[in-house]
Formats: sequence, structure tokens, C-alpha cells
Amino acid sequence: MSAAGETLLAASTRAHGQAAPATRAPLPPRTASKHTVHWFRKGLRLHDNPSLREGLVDAITFRCVFIIDPWFASCSNVGINKWRFLLDCLEDLDNSLRKLNSRLFVVRGQPADALPKLFREWGTTELTFEEDPEPYGRVRDHNIMMKCRDVGINVVSRVSHTLYKLDKIIELNGGKAPLTYHQFQALIASMPPPPPAEATISPQTLNGATTPITEDHDERFGVPTLEELGFETENLKPPVWIGGESEALTRLERHLERKAWVASFGRPKMTPQSLLASPTGLSPYLRFGCLSTRLFYYQLTDLYKRVKRVRPPLSLHGQILWREFFYCAATRNPNFDRMEGNPICVQIPWEKNQDALAKWASGQTGFPWIDSIMIQLREEGWIHHLARHAVACFLTRGDLWISWEEGMKVFDELLLDADWSVNAGMWMWLSCSSFFQQFFHCYCPVRFGRKTDPNGDFIRKYIPALKNMPTRYIHEPWEAPEAVQRSARCVVGRDYPLPMVDHAKVSQLNIERIKQVYALLAKYKPQNLLNPQVVVRPNVMQSSPSPTSIITSINQSNYLCSQTPESQSTSPAHTQQATDVFLRPNNTLREAKQPMKQVVIVQQSQNSNVSPKTTDRSRIQDKFINGQLEISCDMDESKQKNYGLKNLVIHNNDPQCNQDVYIQQTHNNIDGLPQAGQLNSFTDKTKYYLPSYNKSEILVQNTHHRNMNASDQYISNALDNESKNNVNNENSMSTDTVIYPDTENPPEK
Ligand code: FAD
Repeated sequence: MSAAGETLLAASTRAHGQAAPATRAPLPPRTASKHTVHWFRKGLRLHDNPSLREGLVDAITFRCVFIIDPWFASCSNVGINKWRFLLDCLEDLDNSLRKLNSRLFVVRGQPADALPKLFREWGTTELTFEEDPEPYGRVRDHNIMMKCRDVGINVVSRVSHTLYKLDKIIELNGGKAPLTYHQFQALIASMPPPPPAEATISPQTLNGATTPITEDHDERFGVPTLEELGFETENLKPPVWIGGESEALTRLERHLERKAWVASFGRPKMTPQSLLASPTGLSPYLRFGCLSTRLFYYQLTDLYKRVKRVRPPLSLHGQILWREFFYCAATRNPNFDRMEGNPICVQIPWEKNQDALAKWASGQTGFPWIDSIMIQLREEGWIHHLARHAVACFLTRGDLWISWEEGMKVFDELLLDADWSVNAGMWMWLSCSSFFQQFFHCYCPVRFGRKTDPNGDFIRKYIPALKNMPTRYIHEPWEAPEAVQRSARCVVGRDYPLPMVDHAKVSQLNIERIKQVYALLAKYKPQNLLNPQVVVRPNVMQSSPSPTSIITSINQSNYLCSQTPESQSTSPAHTQQATDVFLRPNNTLREAKQPMKQVVIVQQSQNSNVSPKTTDRSRIQDKFINGQLEISCDMDESKQKNYGLKNLVIHNNDPQCNQDVYIQQTHNNIDGLPQAGQLNSFTDKTKYYLPSYNKSEILVQNTHHRNMNASDQYISNALDNESKNNVNNENSMSTDTVIYPDTENPPEK
């Protein structure tokens, strides 16, 4: 059906040639043929919508569309709460458009198929949309633009999801995204302030443009229901978050009232109540674009000026600038959401463990603090920033040693505010994979929980099985005596899971692993990376290269990266100073500086009579690639069958450090040792990541002696003495040790 053939329900309200509002300059004569389609993706609002506004100038008709592919909806990795929130947003938009005698057109299908058909049907001459800053969206939009150009459709896209045009920040930084927050701040401080938010689309803005609406509009283009999208809704609880621009604006008002009332422009104090969804929370609305970032930014600025009577500091907008920072870092990096191929991400050999991941994701870890957060996330779609810290740390570098990518995917499915850029950026941060600070802070899932939720009310709300558990045991119910468990009607192991790991052990092991990764990285000095065009913040002392720039240089990025001076920054938002919550390894920083001694233990195969001396240093080659040590052993052909590299250790050789060393075999899951590090079974040419160990004694597990008592397996601490390079233990495990001299600096790439 052509534009002309449609039932023009709104035609009666159309006022061609109507006088322009008094505030506007006289418009050029209306082009007879401008028929606009505005394509909503994010930016689900009528306020501060510059591209829609521009599409309306001189338009005869306009249609606002949103495209859903219902066939993929229920099987996509997007949780039901997110769909429900999105449908609320669409209903709200439709209602607001009705007030303008228009409607929302929810189109079923794929953009690349659906749009061209509709353009033909509607006689479209102009397509408008909000510029999408994320790589996937940039590619999609580029393709659509090309298609439109081919058929003579004019395309208008404007920035309104972020405060700034991100390309401008990158340009100012010599073509590379700033990779530290300090550098980012310095850049934006040198730019004009973000453009103000534009006014809401009103009847005046339409200036006579109308929306042709057909009789079958609801049938063809109505907002679908969850059922239509294939979701089961029978047991669905009422939503905690209602989507939509109207709700967003009401919340913004409340948010500002609260700020004005307490006259506090910092972070509100953390209380157990903060863990719950708040009626002033804004993040899902910013994510879907029901609320304009610029409106939020300027309303906060105005309020601050009114209350404090001074110009606001940059820090007033701290949280929203962190959002901008991550968007900027991600905008030209299509691999921002993964480790491999991501030039700003440390390559860490995380473990794959589907079972452990599933326990984490479904709130079955046996740690009530972690589980209640994950249950809240699944049920409600939002969790507090510090709760995100807790569960992200637990999954990755704290306890489970599972890749941040897995956690990011779960958040992406369940979090209403999950942004591709912010989510990936924060996960990299939390897992010490990039943008990191203070990696030695490891959240204790018991103590952190107890500090944040001392009475356990939050836990009881989300884990009914624990509701009668006495407060004393609520954070570690496995410690409750049996009688207490029985009287609380919660027997751990039956009514609530046992803890899935021994936190004390695994966290210590993981801290060592992370420490080792960074100790290795810290030895690299990036060269020729200092970008001459970088804007250096005035009065900031030049300090050592930022860790991120080191990572970047190691990963040899050809885009994005730059090096900047970095002073100690706080982590994004909500930095917690409560040191008792963290497990801090002693002397972490000092240890990281210790010269490293590399020790290779070559285990002789049984029944071999080959001289240990065959495994001399010259046959073992190592090189550092992307922060990983690759070891290969060039064995003598004739003897190869008798030897295998079994264990390999990096030994920090710090006599003060009293730490056990675990070396694990792939085949042997030896009781009592954490499963985390099945790292040591390798043959020659195997790529291998090395955790760091700090004891002068090294525990060697022998693959051939499954029942060996662990205490029998210490090799004496004389490993730094080359003369003792052949150590046999009591179980006649024949072990050759080859000792490298200290390597002051890792080999250059
Ligand atoms: P406020 O604290 O009032 O902040 C207002 C807005 O500022 C937020 O809506 C958000 O857009 C932005 N913001 C706040 N903190 C940050 C931050 N640290 N980094 C970037 N932007 C911030 N926030 C998201 O918006 N999307 C995400 O996908 C996301 N994923 C996260 C993943 C992890 C592992 C962690 C630890 C944090 C993540 N955050 C994310 C940041 C933060 O937790 C949320 O923005 C915050 O909890 C939202 O609560 P609020 O509405 O009270 O926001």
C-alpha cells in the first residue's frame, strides 16, 4: 500500500502551511515529498531526540518504527524481565505518540528485510535514527545507510545516547580511545561542554506533519505481548522495574528531589536498603534511552548550582562519565566483549567449568551472600553496584577462576541496564583483565556480605530456605551446629547447598595467579607508545605507564591504544574502603617486585634410564607472548619417549612468604587441592600459563602415584642451588630439576 492509499486517520488534524511557532525562525518552503521514518532502537523517548526532531522539519508524514524479530525473541539470550521492560517502553512510546495523533509502528522482522519493504510501501524519503556508538550497531547502520543511498533515501543520524560524539574525543586523542579515566577526563575538560538536551517533541514540533495510520494498525504494528513473543508468563511475578519514558522522567524528578533534600552530591551511604531496587534508580532507563543522559547531566548541574551556588566540579557527573568512558573505549573495538583478539585485555587462562558456572548463575554456590545477589538479579533484573563487584569477583579472580566473558553474558541476559560497552568494561575491570586497579583486593563472600547485610535480611528475602537461620550463621550456614541447622529447618547439604569451594584456599591461589600475570606484565616497558597528541591533564605528575597501556603494548594493538600518565585513580563508582572485607595478601606490592626465579621440573618417565642431564637448560625455550609464557622443550629425538615435561613453576623466591605451592596434574584431581589450576600437564610445545608461587618449597604431585601423601612430596628448598637438580622423593619419584638463573627481565618479544 502506498502512502497515498492509506487511511489517513490523522489527516483531519494536519495543518499544512500552518504558521511556525513564534520562537522558530521562518521555515523554508516545505518540500512536497518529505516522508520520514524514524527508527527507534535505543533512545526510546520523545525528549532530547535530535534525529527525530530533524526528521520532522518540513515532513509531510512521519512514522516511528521499532523492529522486533519475534521468531528469535524467546530463544535469544535476553531474559524475560528485559523483554517485559522493553515492551513497557514501547507501550509508553505508543501512548505518547497517540497524544500527538500518531502511533508507534512495531515491525516484525529483520531490519534489513523489513525496512526496504516498508519504505516502498510508505513512499519514504528520509530515514532518521539515533547514532549507535557500539561497533555492531555502527556496522548495521552503515549497511542500512548504503542501502538507503542506493534508493535515494536521505539518512539523518544524530548523537544522543552519549553526552559527546565519541569520535571527537578519539580524534582529539590522536585517533585512539583514551584508556584511562584520567586521560579521558583530561580530554573532555579540554572540550566544550556536551550539547544541551533538546525539548520534547510536541504538536508544535510536528508542524503539521502527520502519521498515516491504517485500520489494521494494531494487528500489524501493535506492541506485542510477552506471550506473542513466545514467553511463558503463568508464574511471572509483578515487575519491580516498569519501563518507559514517563516512568523515567518521574524517577529523574525523584532522584533530583532526593539529592536536593540531602544536598549531597556524592554517593549515598551504603546501607542494607541500598541493595534493593530503588524508586530513584535510573540505570535501566539510561540503558534503553528512556532517559536522556544529557537531560540527566544538565538537570544535575542546574540543581547543584541552585543548591550550592557554585559551579559544579567534574566529579558531580562521575558516574555518568564512567559510562561515557566505557562507551568511548569500546566504540572502535569490535572485540571489546571478549578476551581473544581484544587489544586491551590481558590474556588469562581462565578455566572452563560449566557446572560451577551454572551454580554461580543460578545462585547455588552455597555462599548465601553470592546466591542472594544472583537470585535478585534473576528475579528482578537489577543488583547494586557493590553486589556486582561481589559476584563478579567470586566468578573470576576471587574463587571460581572462570572467564569474565561468561559472567558478562549472564549479566547481559538478566540485567535490565546491561550495556554492551559498560558491562564488558566493568567485567574486564573486576576480573583484573583491563582498566584495573588494586588487583590484590579480593572480596570475601562471607565478610563482605556480613559487612553489607549484617542482619542477613537481604539473604532471607531472596533465599527462603535460610529465613530461620540465626543471624550469627546466616552468612556461613555450614558453620552452624547440626542442632541449629535442624531447628532452623535448613540442613546444609540438603535444604541449602554446601559451599562449592573453600574460599580461603582458592582465593589465595587465585591471588597468586593474578599477581603473577601482572608481575610479568609490569616488566614490560611499552616503547614508542606515548602519543604526542595526548592531552595531558595539567598539574598531574607523570607517573609510570598505566597497566592498561602495558597490556595494550603487549597485545600490540594497532588501534585504540595509547599510553598515558596515570595517577592512582579510584575504581569506577562506589569504591569501598572497608579493608576488613578484603583478603589482602601480605606484601603484595613488594612481592611483585621480587626478581623471579623460573624453575622447571622435568619428571622422568618410569623405567627410564636416561640421564637427567639430557634436560639441560639449553633445550628448554621460553618466550613471552601476550603476557603468557610459552615453554617448549626441545628433546633429543632418541630420548624423547622417556621424558616429559610434567611440572613447571615460577618461583618468586621470597623467603618471607610462607605459602604452599600447588602443582596439579590434568589427570589427577588430588583431594584437598583446589581444582582450579589444572595447568601443569603439558608436553613439549604446549602453551602454558604460570601461576606464581612464593614458597621456597615446591610441592610436586606425581602423576604416577595417585595415592601419594601430599606431605611426602615436598622437594627441598634448595631448588635455587643448581647442584641439587636431581631430587628423588621417598616414593622414588624420579624428578629432574633444571634451574634457570634469575631472569631480571622477561625476554623481549
Ligand atoms: P547511579 O550510581 O545513580 O549512576 C547513574 C548512571 O551512571 C547509571 O545509570 C549508569 O549509566 C552510570 N554508571 C554508574 N556507575 C557506573 C560505572 N561504574 N561505570 C559506568 N557507568 C556507570 N552499569 C550500566 O549502566 N550498564 C552495565 O551494563 C553495567 N554493568 C556492570 C557490570 C559490573 C560487573 C559492574 C561491577 C558494574 C556494572 N555497571 C553497569 C555499573 C553500575 O553497577 C551501575 O551503573 C549502577 O549500579 C546503576 O545503579 P544506579 O541506577 O543507582 O546508578
